[in-house]
Amino acid sequence: KEEVDIISGALELKRTPVKCVMTPLDDCYMLDEEAVLDFNTVTDIMNKGFTRIPVYAGTRDNIVALLFVKDLAFVDPDDCTPLKTVIKFYQHPINFVFEDTTLDVMLSEFKKGSSHMAIVNRVNNEGEGDPFYEVLGLVTLEDVIEEILKSEIVDE
Ligand code: ADP
Repeated sequence: KEEVDIISGALELKRTPVKCVMTPLDDCYMLDEEAVLDFNTVTDIMNKGFTRIPVYAGTRDNIVALLFVKDLAFVDPDDCTPLKTVIKFYQHPINFVFEDTTLDVMLSEFKKGSSHMAIVNRVNNEGEGDPFYEVLGLVTLEDVIEEILKSEIVDE
């Protein structure tokens, strides 16, 4: 039964777009680039328990950087370091993918290894103005693997 689920999950990768497995923007834990890494912020980051945190400028749909929790290893909360200082130092590349990217393509991107998280974009060409990119959410390797296994992976 489990094997059958895994095989059918794997076959479905080609038909499933990332937008079906992503974490929607409203549910994403993110930080404002103006944040200060004081005790309260660092405590909040630790309590949320995520490994990677998108950083936005101005509005939540404008993602400009990624913070990895391990970037905080040398940050002393007493120094009240601006988040900007840390993100400028590490400059982790951000992967963007289109909402209709299928999971098999996403999986091979993740396997290349640069990052196991991607920001999901769509081209919004509704309405009058010029088309623009709109951020829908984020997708990680775990979301793809869950789709293959067809069951939730319970986090550590
Ligand atoms: P983590 O290592 O942070 O637990 P995973 O890559 O294992 O992240 O993903 C676990 C789940 O959490 C996935 O469904 C993923 O979409 C979601 N996720 C990852 N980072 C964030 C975040 N910053 N905010 C909200 N959800 C996230």
